[in-house]
Amino acid sequence: MELLDKQTIWQVRNSYLGVYVHFPYCFKKCDYCDFYSEGIGAAPANDEKLLFQAYQKEILERKIHFPEIKNRTIDTVFFGGGTPSKASSKSWKDFLNFLRSEFSFADDTEISIEVNPEDLSAELLEEYDSIGINRVNVGVQTLEPKGLEFLGRHYDSERYGALVDVLTHSPIERVGIDLMYGIPGVSKESFYRDLNLFLEAGLPHLSLYSLTLEKGTQYSRDVTDHKKREPEENIQSEILTNLPVLLKEHGYLWYEVSNYAKPGFESRHNLKYWTYEPYLGIGPGAHGMIEGHRYGNPRNSSLYQKKPSNTKYEPADPSTELSLTLFRLFSPFRYLDFIDTYLDSESKIKYLKTIEGWDKKGLCSIESGVFQWKPAALLLLDDLILEISL
Ligand code: SF4
Repeated sequence: MELLDKQTIWQVRNSYLGVYVHFPYCFKKCDYCDFYSEGIGAAPANDEKLLFQAYQKEILERKIHFPEIKNRTIDTVFFGGGTPSKASSKSWKDFLNFLRSEFSFADDTEISIEVNPEDLSAELLEEYDSIGINRVNVGVQTLEPKGLEFLGRHYDSERYGALVDVLTHSPIERVGIDLMYGIPGVSKESFYRDLNLFLEAGLPHLSLYSLTLEKGTQYSRDVTDHKKREPEENIQSEILTNLPVLLKEHGYLWYEVSNYAKPGFESRHNLKYWTYEPYLGIGPGAHGMIEGHRYGNPRNSSLYQKKPSNTKYEPADPSTELSLTLFRLFSPFRYLDFIDTYLDSESKIKYLKTIEGWDKKGLCSIESGVFQWKPAALLLLDDLILEISL
């Protein structure tokens, strides 16, 4: 297992709590986006204050529903969306103070925010740093204006032009970006040109993912109406298989299908989703999993603000859920511990049999209770995950 000496081995770690907060507003709704988000232009949301009040109400109510969560220590907080950088830093600061008054925090709690390029500036990063945010991820997607136009994204040429410089001089060390490939009309050379800029800047975290066609989006309607082309699948497979080699040469660990980090810079919050750790999901359209139960909030901001925690709790199903998340990790993990902790005896037998089959085919290594995919599994991953989840 060649990377074992360098990579963290993920393990069961379920006594902590993550908190995800969904801020649903954006400058413009992008054509490919299937998150709950509403385009409202440059002005701040006129219900920002009410929304942040509803976040607090939801937390208090969920604590009543599940009194046990008071005993948990928060170790990750993630402000996502939507575009959380559209809300004022003061709102996030007050929210963090509230959260600290309601829960205990680990000393090294990761506090992340997603930022859109049109909001990114040196001043904003200073503000975030001063209120305790210690991780920033910027949704760049592409630096190619015609690619942004294809995606239906808002494009501010000045901010896009400055973003490498602003991120390079960030007072917050843990910074990363999202880049997308396979956008029709954007060549693979153009994708690598963008990527190289960020590699040269030495950003510690890179999320590199392919454009997908999601049902119900404007992009999907445009493809059906023959107004736009489907994602470039040939280019996507080629880039997908090349990235692990390229990124390794630059000192990045490949820890999840689409995520690369310098050692120690992995997104600890996102790892919670992949390793089946509990988290509170707050805000319209957010999902959560607490004390073995799942819930999903309405994808409607005003409805949410009226009754913030009015959701049904469903028992989580570890046998299916673990397969859909854990096996997206390309870094090693203690698979026997996960199986022993979460699965019933029937599911355990199924998992072990499937994993042994993969090992015999040379798709993974399993040594001393530690699982790791081999690169050969990458292009088969969706089918392999389906195999273990059925
Ligand atoms: S900015 Fe992000 S969340 Fe908002 S519409 Fe675009 S992709 Fe969706």
